[in-house]
Amino acid sequence: MADETRVADETRVAPETRVADETRVADETRVADETRVAPETGRSAAPALAALAQQAASCTACALAAGRTQVVFGVGDPDADLVFVGEGPGREEDLRGEPFVGRSGQLLDRLMAEELGIDRSRCYIANVVKCRPPDNRDPLPGEIEACRPYLEAQLDLVHPVVVVTLGNFATRLLLGTDRGVTSLRGAAYPFRDGSLVPTFHPAAALRGGGSVVAQMRADLVRAKALLGWSA
Ligand code: SF4
Repeated sequence: MADETRVADETRVAPETRVADETRVADETRVADETRVAPETGRSAAPALAALAQQAASCTACALAAGRTQVVFGVGDPDADLVFVGEGPGREEDLRGEPFVGRSGQLLDRLMAEELGIDRSRCYIANVVKCRPPDNRDPLPGEIEACRPYLEAQLDLVHPVVVVTLGNFATRLLLGTDRGVTSLRGAAYPFRDGSLVPTFHPAAALRGGGSVVAQMRADLVRAKALLGWSA
């Protein structure tokens, strides 16, 4: 890891207010849907998340239903303070029914362990779309909107302190912006009752090499500070 890259990145003041307008999750654009749930009640989100996963398992709200092996709903601690949001399942994930279990997932697990000191059981991991796009193509806008209520409901239920978005699709969707993750990362943004930290998708880090990984590490350190987890 390039220490100078990391240090420079970490010392940047997180402009929590820099793009306050971009953090709007416009109420008017939120999909009114029966998957929306009541705010946190103090009870574990586990039963409600399980019910939502069961509902999603037979979802046919978009064309991605036709090509999936199974719905890849999400994994981890239903009451986690930290949620990762990726793009969509790939081949391995589609077969195993769990997000981030291929090479990208192995990198995410490693960075999680090295920078946050946790494994995936201590956080919650979900994707923007729950079914695999054919040939690993990008999810289409209509598919993202169709699946969005599930992600919103997952965030309602888990009610994390920090959301780390992995890549352009999750970052743009949740921050309500067209800007790319390259320009947005390096800062934290107000999001719901907590913060959102954008970073690269681990697949981009696998392609981009050490400098991208170094920036991901810095973003996870930023998330750790926001969580109040000791260094
Ligand atoms: S991607 Fe989402 S909206 Fe589309 S079929 Fe799968 S679960 Fe339903």
